[in-house]
Amino acid sequence: MPIANIAVIGAGTMGQGIAQLCAQQGYTTWLYDVQDGAAERARQRIAQALDRRVAKGRMTTGDADAALSRVSVADSLAELSEADLVVEAIVEDLAVKRALFAELETLCRADALLCTNTSSLSVGEIAAELHTPQRFAGLHFFNPPTAMKLVEVVSADATAQTTQRALHDFARSLGKTPVAVSDSPGFIVNRCARPFYSEALWLLEHGAAAAATIDACLKSGGGFPLGPFELIDLVGLDINLRATETVWQAFDHHPRFRPSPLVADKVAAGQLGRKSGVGFYRYD
Ligand code: NAD
Repeated sequence: MPIANIAVIGAGTMGQGIAQLCAQQGYTTWLYDVQDGAAERARQRIAQALDRRVAKGRMTTGDADAALSRVSVADSLAELSEADLVVEAIVEDLAVKRALFAELETLCRADALLCTNTSSLSVGEIAAELHTPQRFAGLHFFNPPTAMKLVEVVSADATAQTTQRALHDFARSLGKTPVAVSDSPGFIVNRCARPFYSEALWLLEHGAAAAATIDACLKSGGGFPLGPFELIDLVGLDINLRATETVWQAFDHHPRFRPSPLVADKVAAGQLGRKSGVGFYRYD
């Protein structure tokens, strides 16, 4: 089935970027968010991001206008019934994601593909109560989706090969590099990233160095484009904490994956990183 219409659910950090990417690549794109006005605000931020691309000479004004015209805001899930492919990018909560897909399964066409952008939850568990889990998979974009090349295509036991193939083709059509990964905790990138974050947090918690010093060292000495604290701020401390907790639980609370109390305290204080204006750094 040709894919032309994309529904992106959740208009936060990732949903906004995924919607922009799809629209830039010629897809008719719908954005929906449960929070009043959030999808419209994300569409405005997409307009600003497209303007910046034009200013940097990466895009013509005509292409930017055309991309923006392909992004529409949906006021209800029912408006997404004609989507060929749904990408869910809502809160990282198993029960909330399950409830959403149970509803989508009844609303969307039987041949629509249903995908989750979860960072760390089990794709099989999200799909466990679906009647048609063969059309369900993880389609894990990285932040920011417009720039990062990798997409992890996560198959659960029930995911059909036709679904996997269609998602690989779709990711390639977005200019991305899809990689087939199995449904194991944290998949590949987020699993390997846990020790990167936790060792840096351990240094900070024990007063061995300041966040900015650790970031500077890993960038200049380790060749990383962002230091661990800059990356946590970009990802969102709440999202980072959820991913760590999921991997920690999946490994029977092994101390190697223990979540940092520092991150938990900041999340409790509403310091979520760039999106809230404060995390390990301030964004005024
Ligand atoms: P975010 O907090 O920035 O945005 C989530 C959005 O989802 C919010 O606007 C919220 O109002 C909306 N939402 C919550 N429940 C909803 C529902 N039931 N229906 C519709 N909308 C709902 O989160 P994010 O950082 O964009 O992360 C979204 C998903 O993507 C998570 O599963 C996360 O693990 C994953 N992810 C995040 C990153 C990252 O770097 N932030 C990277 C890859 C994957």
